[in-house]
Amino acid sequence: MDVYKRLAKKLDELPQGFPSTDTGVELRILQIIFSPEDAEMALQMTPAPETAEQVAARLSKPVEETRAMLDQMAEKGQIGSLSIGGQQVYRLIPFVIGIFEFQRKERLTKELAELIEEYGPHLMKVTGGHAPHIARVIPVNAAIPTDLQVLQQDDIRQIINNAKSFRVQDCICRKEKNLLGDPCKHSIHNCIQYSMEENAFDYFNPEGEIITREEALQILEKNSQEGLVHTTYNIMNVPGGFLCSCCSCSCAMIRALKEFKAPYMIAKSNYMAHIDEDACIACGICRDERCPMDAIANEDGEFRVLKERCIGCGVCIITCPSKALSLIERPVHERDPIATDVTEWGKMRMENRMHDEQKTQSVPK
Ligand code: SF4
Ligand code: SF4
Repeated sequence: MDVYKRLAKKLDELPQGFPSTDTGVELRILQIIFSPEDAEMALQMTPAPETAEQVAARLSKPVEETRAMLDQMAEKGQIGSLSIGGQQVYRLIPFVIGIFEFQRKERLTKELAELIEEYGPHLMKVTGGHAPHIARVIPVNAAIPTDLQVLQQDDIRQIINNAKSFRVQDCICRKEKNLLGDPCKHSIHNCIQYSMEENAFDYFNPEGEIITREEALQILEKNSQEGLVHTTYNIMNVPGGFLCSCCSCSCAMIRALKEFKAPYMIAKSNYMAHIDEDACIACGICRDERCPMDAIANEDGEFRVLKERCIGCGVCIITCPSKALSLIERPVHERDPIATDVTEWGKMRMENRMHDEQKTQSVPK
């Protein structure tokens, strides 16, 4: 068990965190995902990407043996593997967003799904309990009025147009719910990974398919029609990563906001919904079928947006039959902050975690 305790501590030292519990459920999760040998190797990895040659030199091991071990660990979703500047690199990744999302194919068993469901509320509460936010909502493009100037972090087309490689895989949250016998109605094969590097997934693509930019845009369009919320990392210059399509029934991030009261899981977009009362025909579609955040209220037949609950996703806008709904810009002082890059995000988050933890410790019991 010692190796799993050390690995849990190491994962908790990453900005995202991997909090301990009284029950030790997090250690049981690690035991399923990592063999003791793999856990020892993960303990040797750094969050900064390294080539197999660099890892081998650091650990005084043969290069090919190290590469084979790293490839196997990446295949098992224990570490990250990506292509940077044409070189395959490996790195320690957080539990979320990272190890959990990479438990592909048959590695996500019913037993693991049950343990993650048990750990989820605690994990989400702590992970989403410290600023800055982990992920960020990107509004449905078609919902943004054409006369508004859209910032890059709010423009899904710009993010996709800047990226150079794409792949699609099953959504891990819906897979988990399926295994638990509580499937939701939404599509499952729509979780997109993107990279600013050419051919980023050619060397390592253990699940899903490599797709073109046009196919990625088609999947996102279909996801919008389904009422799914686009989210990606809460960073201005995203080097790549997941582009999730979230629902409130299965998605850990939206569930974190609604069920687990974790305010820093997802940042709102810079927009919010607005209803033109004169145009609204009170059909209720926006409230009853579309909004994942319960952000639309029916007050004696008058529909109203609850701006403190609205995350600015825009999924209510595109199906309003009378075009009464639109996205408007959120006042600057109400917007959620966004970090410039991964380094700034990690630094801000570690500072806030330490500050929040010190505050909790200094509260007299
Ligand atoms: S979908 Fe449009 S018309 Fe229907 S209640 Fe909502 S705002 Fe009104
Ligand atoms: S009202 Fe609901 S669906 Fe519409 S933008 Fe806000 S959170 Fe999204």
